Amino acid sequence: MGRLRRSRTHHARRDVHRSNRTRVRSRDLDLIQLIDLDPKNRAALEAQPLDFEKPGLGQHYCVECAKYYETDAALQSHWRSKVHKRRCKELKEPAYTIEEAERAAGLGREGKRPTASMPVEMDTISGT
Ligand SMILES: [Zn+2]
Repeated sequence: MGRLRRSRTHHARRDVHRSNRTRVRSRDLDLIQLIDLDPKNRAALEAQPLDFEKPGLGQHYCVECAKYYETDAALQSHWRSKVHKRRCKELKEPAYTIEEAERAAGLGREGKRPTASMPVEMDTISGT
C-alpha cells in the first residue's frame, strides 16, 4: 500500500471532516428542492423575522445552501462562490424520491409492466 492521497482532496470545502459530523448536518437536498425552492416558501425564507438565535439575526439566508450569513456582503460573496454554484448544479438534478426508490425495487407503476410481459417471454422460451 502506497501513500494515501493528501493533496487535491478538498475541492473548496472548508473542512472535509466537518461535513461528516451530524451536528453540522445541513438540510437535505431533496427537502430544499421540493419545499424550499417553491417560490412561496422561498420568499418566506428570504424575508424572515429578526431572530437573535441565528447568525446575522436570520436576515441573510441562502435558500439553496440552507445557510445563514452574518452580513449582506457575506451572502453576496457566497453567491459568487464555487460552493454555492456547485450546490445550484446539484439542485438542478431531480431529487431522489420514494417513487424512484420503489421503481428501483420493482414496486412502482413502472415495475408492473415488466411483470405483465414476463409470461409472454416464458411462452416464447418454451415454444422454441
Ligand atoms: Zn448558497
